[in-house]
Amino acid sequence: MARPIVAIVGRPNVGKSTIFNRVIGDRLAIVEDMPGVTRDRLYGVGEWLDREFSVIDTGGIEIDGDNEMLKSIRVQAELAIEEADVIIFMVDAKAGVTPSDNEVAEILFRAKKPVVLAVNKVDNIKRQDDIYEFYSLGFGTPYGISGSHGTGIGDLLDEVIHHFPDTHDEEYGEEVIRVALIGRPNVGKSSLTNAILGEDRVIVSDVAGTTRDAIDTPFERDGQKYVIIDTAGMRKRGKVYENTEKYSVMRALKAIERADVVLVLINGEEGIIEQDKHIAGYAHEAGKAAIFVVNKWDVVDKDDKTMQQFTQKIRDHFLFMTYAPIVFLSAKTKQRIHKLLPVVDQVAEQHALRIQTHLLNDVISDAVAINPPPTDKGRRLRINYATQVSVKPPTFVFFVNDPELMHFSYERYLENKVRAAFGFEGTPLRLFTRKKS
Ligand code: GDP
Ligand code: GDP
Repeated sequence: MARPIVAIVGRPNVGKSTIFNRVIGDRLAIVEDMPGVTRDRLYGVGEWLDREFSVIDTGGIEIDGDNEMLKSIRVQAELAIEEADVIIFMVDAKAGVTPSDNEVAEILFRAKKPVVLAVNKVDNIKRQDDIYEFYSLGFGTPYGISGSHGTGIGDLLDEVIHHFPDTHDEEYGEEVIRVALIGRPNVGKSSLTNAILGEDRVIVSDVAGTTRDAIDTPFERDGQKYVIIDTAGMRKRGKVYENTEKYSVMRALKAIERADVVLVLINGEEGIIEQDKHIAGYAHEAGKAAIFVVNKWDVVDKDDKTMQQFTQKIRDHFLFMTYAPIVFLSAKTKQRIHKLLPVVDQVAEQHALRIQTHLLNDVISDAVAINPPPTDKGRRLRINYATQVSVKPPTFVFFVNDPELMHFSYERYLENKVRAAFGFEGTPLRLFTRKKS
């Protein structure tokens, strides 16, 4: 299930990042706690009335150059229009309607996306009267909120989730494997898409997917159906976009949310850069199956150790994704292209794998017997039983005497035992601990 995407847009200093932080609350992005990953907080997961959604603070995306501020605002608004399911347009009650607000409004007007107008810094009753002038922006009811006091945010989110796409409105059947190709500009996403679609046994359907605002490419191979998600998103955009790392990372977010399997492309010629880690981190955090695809392998000077060394480099850089298989290929010469889809099939299967409760508990009992949970202040964790509650990604709940006693390292140990017993290659796993009632 793809999480809906909410983007916060507005000129600088209206309070976007303040509200962003309030909305994602203490649900820190998981990846930030992973060794080897640093990231700006532009993206997080929020929850309201049991609906999960991704939030983008577009304010962090800045463009250098002339007329910097206006250009940045424009790029941010356009990103929101393309990527978001719902846009929060934020303005400042203290400042009133400014020319920059009108500028943003003009761009958002062209969007066929729901826009919810939030008037921030309504810190007291008196200022509640100041919100009416914002009707002039043309986005209907302004919602008065205060980032400082945290007031009004519930009503705002009520309105936001009201505009979410219908959860039952799945775009493709369960049997279709949804594949996203992600990676920095020029890594070879378009070339690899074409190489896959050009394979002998691949039959591309003539009807391009026309879902929402993305262009998807459905195809079939040996009876298995696939769709390459958001092919249009790979098209070349203006220089402004290409040069802005944060922008292109954000662009990947939606394709990742919609995919089952994410191909994380890495440039074999240039090696791994920080941006690759951010992108891979999203795939991990979104709970998607993942494959590292090292492209441009044709131009790499190789000896018999090169592949081994590159593999090690990937493992060192992506410590949190040791489950992801690695495929070396060349989109240009088509070298080893035919190896890719079988790996896609494999990880898609593992991503949807369901383990019977009794088999799972046998493995857990053995794991606990070999290596009992450590004690904490004289108390020891007791695991009553575990069960798999969902797939894509496989998610497990451990019922225990006290969830506080489950430590990260022991959870990691249990995850490794589960993987050793059942595989789960290519997919992240989620483990939750609950108090047995
Ligand atoms: P951004 O540039 O839109 O992301 O804005 P920030 O979140 O960085 O906030 C800009 C300034 O407004 C900061 O000094 C905040 O402390 C302040 N601010 C944010 N929300 C409120 C609010 O509800 N009331 C008041 N009075 N100040 C706020
Ligand atoms: P995208 O921006 O990620 O979609 O990248 P493109 O598919 O447009 O490729 C960028 C450039 O890299 C183009 O000039 C391609 O011809 C080149 N390229 C793509 N794949 C390969 C490859 O496997 N080997 C080599 N040598 N060049 C490649």
